[in-house]
Amino acid sequence: MVSRVIPVAPFDLVIFGGTGDLARRKILPGLFRRFCAGQMPPDARVVGAARSDMSAEDYRRMVRDAIGEFNSDTSYKAADLDAFLARLEYVTIDAKGEAGWSELQKLMAGEGRVEAYYFSVSPSLFGDLAERLHKWGMADAQARIVVEKPFGRDLATACALNATLAEHFDEHQIYRIDHYLGKETVQNLMAVRFGNMLFEPLWNAQYVDHIQITVAETVGVGGRGEYYDKSGAMRDMVQNHLMQLLCLIAMEPPARFDPDAVRDEKLKVIRALDPVLPHHISRGQYQAEACNEAEMPGYRTAVGDAKTRTESFVALKTHISNWRWAGTPFYLRTGKRMAARSSEITVVFKETPHSIFSEEAGRHRNVLSIRLQPNEGITLGVTIKEPGPGGMRLIDVPLDMSFAEALGDDTDHVDAYERLIMDVIRGNQTLFMRGDEVEAAWAWTDPIIQGWEARNDVPKPYDSGSDGPTDSAELMRRDGREWRKVSP
Ligand code: NAD
Repeated sequence: MVSRVIPVAPFDLVIFGGTGDLARRKILPGLFRRFCAGQMPPDARVVGAARSDMSAEDYRRMVRDAIGEFNSDTSYKAADLDAFLARLEYVTIDAKGEAGWSELQKLMAGEGRVEAYYFSVSPSLFGDLAERLHKWGMADAQARIVVEKPFGRDLATACALNATLAEHFDEHQIYRIDHYLGKETVQNLMAVRFGNMLFEPLWNAQYVDHIQITVAETVGVGGRGEYYDKSGAMRDMVQNHLMQLLCLIAMEPPARFDPDAVRDEKLKVIRALDPVLPHHISRGQYQAEACNEAEMPGYRTAVGDAKTRTESFVALKTHISNWRWAGTPFYLRTGKRMAARSSEITVVFKETPHSIFSEEAGRHRNVLSIRLQPNEGITLGVTIKEPGPGGMRLIDVPLDMSFAEALGDDTDHVDAYERLIMDVIRGNQTLFMRGDEVEAAWAWTDPIIQGWEARNDVPKPYDSGSDGPTDSAELMRRDGREWRKVSP
């Protein structure tokens, strides 16, 4: 199936941090793919702006190498790459000083074009960039800024950052990225819920026993140890990605699919979340892989701190105190070095109120699982009769729909960053977090982290390649439930 490509308006996109890891791995290869798809108008320009002293020609060479290394699709034509590189400019700039700003100002002097400024730099520079854009007359009504995660490390820092950005930009000009929201299947959550009559009537505490959200990674902290150790799974994954998934699965239907209507409903979910009790949380740190400690070191070795108390795994139970969900627990779990790379939302329905079958037939539940990665798709477990003689015995079988099989290979080629950058140019904020949403998420997360700090909580060790520490399984077992096995 070939996706329809609608070209966007002429734009100038400045990537602050245009020589950095994120720009080289995601942003620039993503822009190139949109270029190859015919989505970039002929006069669109991309300006790399970073500290390294290099010419535009050097920058084009660097981007050529980055695309060669990181573009998953290698079937592009050499002429397309040359044409894309010809759109690139480069400015050596200092976010904290004056160097490069007058040059950038001259480059951005064109009228009537979309101006987007991507802050792909350390968050400590976000405020400096906003201020200098304003000072040099680039924070005008056309301007949009794209802000990378992490957006603060707690409520106070997120509020301070929102306030700084708000000095120079209106909320409708600020695009806070959570790349999870750019994933095809995450948007599909909304299509599945609000495009089908089938699910919505059952989507509440009366019919749903509980919901599980798992984002499991097989990788460890790798080269990001220093950064990660200051953050941990709660800040790095739960406060943003898992909470966004929770919002999409639990929110009320918005009146329209428009940015503020969707974000209003997500915000209501976050504000209705119950505080998490200490015994409803499991926290872990991965251990070295047995027999392969040199290549797969444990968390503490990887971050170079034998005493660190930062978690690489967290599982928790929470409730949403509103009419739809009161009484239905939501279990969230994420970790590194787990058994498989898998992001999945599982909706476990209640048993039928009365069984007409004998006791031997057993009691069964429908389970809807939405796989976000890999093998995006939906599986609905339905109960049927086990074939053959021998009476009425019931078994669960999956109604399985893989999106790749159903829709063809084209489905997963648009990376989250490609989609989100094009949404910035289109001026569509639906898939970006609003300032009040981010603050509400921190307001819920902060007491959990503060509780750990106050109690000097030490994360439990767990084996690399496992489903996490044993008390994560215990969290479920106490409630008479169990986690879905983390499987690829
Ligand atoms: P990086 O360290 O690889 O690159 C930093 C960039 O900032 C470089 O281009 C550098 O020249 C530029 N820079 C540094 N100081 C500057 C200054 N004073 N003035 C102008 N430019 C300056 O960082 P990264 O990994 O690309 O991350 C960038 C942002 O994206 C960070 O906020 C990070 O948290 C976020 N992020 C990164 C990833 C990732 O996979 N790398 C994923 C999610 C979010």
